[in-house]
Amino acid sequence: MKADFYETLGVQKGADDKELKSAFRKLAMQFHPDRNPGDDACEHKFKEINEAYETLKDPQKRAAYDRFGHAAFENGGMGNGGGQGFGAGGFADIFEDIFGDMMGGGRRRSSGGRERGADLRYNMEITLEEAFAGKTAQIRVPTSILCTECAGSGAKAGTQPVTCSMCQGHGKVRASQGFFSIERTCPQCQGRGQTIKDPCGKCAGQGRVTEERSLSVNIPSGIEDGTRIRLANEGEAGLRGGPSGDLYIFLSVKPHEFFQRDGADLYCKVPISMTTAALGGSFEVATLDGTQTRVKVPEGTQNGRQFRLKGKGMPILRQPQVGDLYIQTAVETPQSLTRRQRELLEEFEKLSSTENSPQSSGFFSRMKDFFESFGDK
Ligand SMILES: [Zn+2]
Ligand SMILES: [Zn+2]
Repeated sequence: MKADFYETLGVQKGADDKELKSAFRKLAMQFHPDRNPGDDACEHKFKEINEAYETLKDPQKRAAYDRFGHAAFENGGMGNGGGQGFGAGGFADIFEDIFGDMMGGGRRRSSGGRERGADLRYNMEITLEEAFAGKTAQIRVPTSILCTECAGSGAKAGTQPVTCSMCQGHGKVRASQGFFSIERTCPQCQGRGQTIKDPCGKCAGQGRVTEERSLSVNIPSGIEDGTRIRLANEGEAGLRGGPSGDLYIFLSVKPHEFFQRDGADLYCKVPISMTTAALGGSFEVATLDGTQTRVKVPEGTQNGRQFRLKGKGMPILRQPQVGDLYIQTAVETPQSLTRRQRELLEEFEKLSSTENSPQSSGFFSRMKDFFESFGDK
């Protein structure tokens, strides 16, 4: 029993296009196979979401579905490929929806009807550890590629596109209107100069088909948040033998629980107890190279004191230098004291002199002077 398309997307029957799209986006991002590698349940759910959206976003299909339910698409009904596997149209569409719009408006038309393929965008999120070490990422890119059946010509195997009989291959025709002669795009070949008599069955004369490809992308060590990686010619295939577009990977680095990054330097706030700060001691910090470093805390360490661990920061892209790691102490004032602790601290207080806390005593005596200076006026 198939789930209701509206329920699958979690929207009301009367949902408008905007609501549909936003529900689809949210769910598709959540269940996308790239985010849930190896999870069959997610992949299945993703296909369901895709099918539901494919149907409901099309007013005709939606009307048919509202009237007849799933039966509208069975036994060669209106048919949309049934959502089994990633059908041609659906994937390109998801790609645009999730991975961003085709960039640069990419389609440049050249002679002979050849068109450059569109540039594609892929958003990738990596961890700070991955940015530190670099990695080879496997991504799955739904994209149109050259049709192997016709080698991109769009013509059925064994045939060739023929020069357009109407414009003799110019792509433009002239028509006389009174004194004027007007040039316009040839209506027979839409400006391509060639027509295909017998279109290729696999690509319907487009010269390319939509498929999912697996690509391996090299993420270099030290890469920064917001970096764009261009993979030349890995975008959408050109039309009728035109050149391919490019694929752009938009990289973002996830915030880290312990480390803040500023270029090649890392910052880490480490809470230490009041007694460690006063008496001195040490603690260990884990670093991004998978090792631990011991940090010595000298006697009388103040809150916010910075320790520099040289060469423990981020690598710099394509350079031998490495940044530093700055450890900043955050002295924690003790809470929930026991009676005995309180006694000891009170005794400590009695024994304290201005030398124990030169900053606060100095500060309050200067503050007092400042206040008294008003009386002189
Ligand atoms: Zn073909
Ligand atoms: Zn023509």
